[in-house]
Amino acid sequence: MSTPIETDVVIVGAGPVGLFAVFELGLYDLKCHLIDILDRPGGQCAELYPEKPIYDIPAWPEISGQALVDRLMEQIAPFSPEFHFNRMVSGFRKLDNGRFEVETDEGELLHCHAVVIAAGGGSFQPKRPPVPGIEAYEGKSVFYSVRRMEEFRDKDLLIVGGGDSALDWTLNLQPVAKSVTLVHRRPDFRAAPDSVNKMFAMKEEGKIDFQVGQVTGLKGEDGQLTAATLKSPDGEIEVACNRMLPFFGLTMKLGPIADWGLNQHENLISVDTEKFETSIPGVFAIGDINWYPGKLKLILSGFHEAALMTQAVKRLAHPDQKLVFQYTTSSTSLQKKLGVQ
Ligand code: FAD
Repeated sequence: MSTPIETDVVIVGAGPVGLFAVFELGLYDLKCHLIDILDRPGGQCAELYPEKPIYDIPAWPEISGQALVDRLMEQIAPFSPEFHFNRMVSGFRKLDNGRFEVETDEGELLHCHAVVIAAGGGSFQPKRPPVPGIEAYEGKSVFYSVRRMEEFRDKDLLIVGGGDSALDWTLNLQPVAKSVTLVHRRPDFRAAPDSVNKMFAMKEEGKIDFQVGQVTGLKGEDGQLTAATLKSPDGEIEVACNRMLPFFGLTMKLGPIADWGLNQHENLISVDTEKFETSIPGVFAIGDINWYPGKLKLILSGFHEAALMTQAVKRLAHPDQKLVFQYTTSSTSLQKKLGVQ
């Protein structure tokens, strides 16, 4: 078990709402650690619609999902948030000193005054491809994410899918792996055109192989893959491989947070509308994960919720300090924190 990290607030989820919470909490000198199961910030905006325009962010007539995330990261930079990516929040308990302990699935412990759940629709879980017997290989030679590229060094890698993840990892793992074969059911891709062009250029240079087809079977023993069978336009073919990375998209599940004993409403966490606190004092829920009468699952609603939650967390963390409401336009102390003074 690792030595606990001491901080003011642990935010579960680095989607747009979790990111903006860092800003609001930062204005009140509250230091944040964010935990996200994904490998980058931005939640749904970055994962599901990075290039789609959003038209209802105040003062941004049009901004893409990824651009919004980039702006939020820029806005919170003065508060130096610490990110723990590729981690799912699993356990949580109240300590004798009144603080909370949050645990990740990698065994890290974080101690904090308040927990802010900004987990959106829940954790994104990889969709399993319909390949018979794939369960036996999962976590041993079939993986749905890349936590450490080194784990794929000198491996014969089969990457399956046609989206950004499949293409990005084909390009990034090619220099590390012994061989890379990309498989997609057709020669058209949903991924960024630049990545697709680079992938075809690598194929031309003989650095990777690309096969049109669908994986229909796996061969191996004790969870260790030796080959995959593909149904291709030329009939059934076999590709030798000892690691497979299927990227078939993500579904959303509440995951372990569902077992924390929080009051729920149709799989969402019930909160009050004064502080956005859950049924456990000191645990807050903001953004798409929460429910209250009239809730709208909009980014701007989550931003508002982050501002009100912050007032309550400040009182909780520093009950002895007077809470002074200030505008960023006129407060020199806030401007110093933002590094603009
Ligand atoms: P999310 O963006 O879902 O982020 C939650 C994060 O928490 C994720 O990164 C997830 O990995 C992480 N997480 C969850 N559980 C755990 C766990 N146990 N441990 C660790 N991490 C965890 N809204 C608008 O306002 N305007 C629009 O035009 C608009 N268009 C949209 C278009 C599409 C196609 C979609 C899908 C949504 C759209 N939305 C729009 C909705 C908007 O994206 C959401 O309201 C917003 O993303 C919610 O932000 P969030 O931070 O609450 O949650």
